[in-house]
Amino acid sequence: METARLDGKKIAEQIKDEVAIEVAALQAKGITPGLAAVLVGEHPASQVYVRNKTKTCQQLGMHSEQIKLSPDTTTEQLLEIVDSLNRSDDIDGILIQLPLPDQIDDQLILNSVLPEKDVDGFHPVNIGRLVTGDYILAPCTPMGIMEMLKRESIPLKGAEAVIVGRSTIVGKPMALLLLHEHATVTLCHSRTKDLPAVCRRADILVAAIGRPAMITGDYIKEGATVIDVGINRVESESQVIELFGEESPRIATFAKRGSTLVGDVHPRDPYGIAAAVTPVPGGVGPLTIAHLMKNTLLACKARHH
Ligand code: NDP
Repeated sequence: METARLDGKKIAEQIKDEVAIEVAALQAKGITPGLAAVLVGEHPASQVYVRNKTKTCQQLGMHSEQIKLSPDTTTEQLLEIVDSLNRSDDIDGILIQLPLPDQIDDQLILNSVLPEKDVDGFHPVNIGRLVTGDYILAPCTPMGIMEMLKRESIPLKGAEAVIVGRSTIVGKPMALLLLHEHATVTLCHSRTKDLPAVCRRADILVAAIGRPAMITGDYIKEGATVIDVGINRVESESQVIELFGEESPRIATFAKRGSTLVGDVHPRDPYGIAAAVTPVPGGVGPLTIAHLMKNTLLACKARHH
């Protein structure tokens, strides 16, 4: 079977172009959607994520603010900052970059963001709305994946969907979104028995585990659509060769950077078995940022309704 690579980058560009058109229309009415990204500490990956998010905001004509706080910020100090952003008229979306340092009560902080400005979709009110199906703001990664499945015309109604990973950020909201589209959903985790057999039932298989290349060919049904959410950094040359093969251009990338990214799905195994697969990088990652922009726009439109 020929396996298609689902181009997340291309779909993310389409979503961003659509957002930019709506932003321009709002600006003509004197409204500029605004996103505030709050970063506590100096976590290198988080710094890159926040920089990319604010840069994308600016590219789409949105207002953006980066609030960088020292690693020893307390829960009380962060609550005060969130409170001022909740009251700011320039800000439609508030993003608290995770992970937060250990001394901070994450849940208290996430719950303090106004649900109307919760563009990550993590607030219990927004999670509740997602459960009922009456939602505006839902988590960006699963929303981006849904957008891709729809734009690629992957049949959802009655499809067997298996999700591996039950996090609040990815797995659980992914299950709800697929359920709302009438898929038959199975949500797996570390205690699932005979995981390969459960995964082989899937017409749509979503891997959100955080374990490099765990989903090998024996987890995949012929003709399945495989969505790889995982982002794992591999730093061993022998592992890179084993995963990608000696001829792969990844060997050169690895030689230059000392590491390379691999998803939760084996980078070569699905080819010839699955109908379609998302690459890492260039699959789900770009869709997450694009949907954050869309959520900021949606939050702005809802606030000015
Ligand atoms: P979490 O660590 O919060 O959750 C991982 C899930 O995988 C858990 O439910 C865990 O089960 C399950 N799991 C772990 N090991 C196994 C196993 N051996 N068999 C079956 N299930 C297992 O991860 P996240 O959901 O936050 O992230 C998952 C991956 O996706 C990571 O690589 C992360 O970097 C990436 N990610 C990518 C994004 C993107 O934009 N592309 C956005 C968000 C995340 P249990 O609950 O039983 O412990």
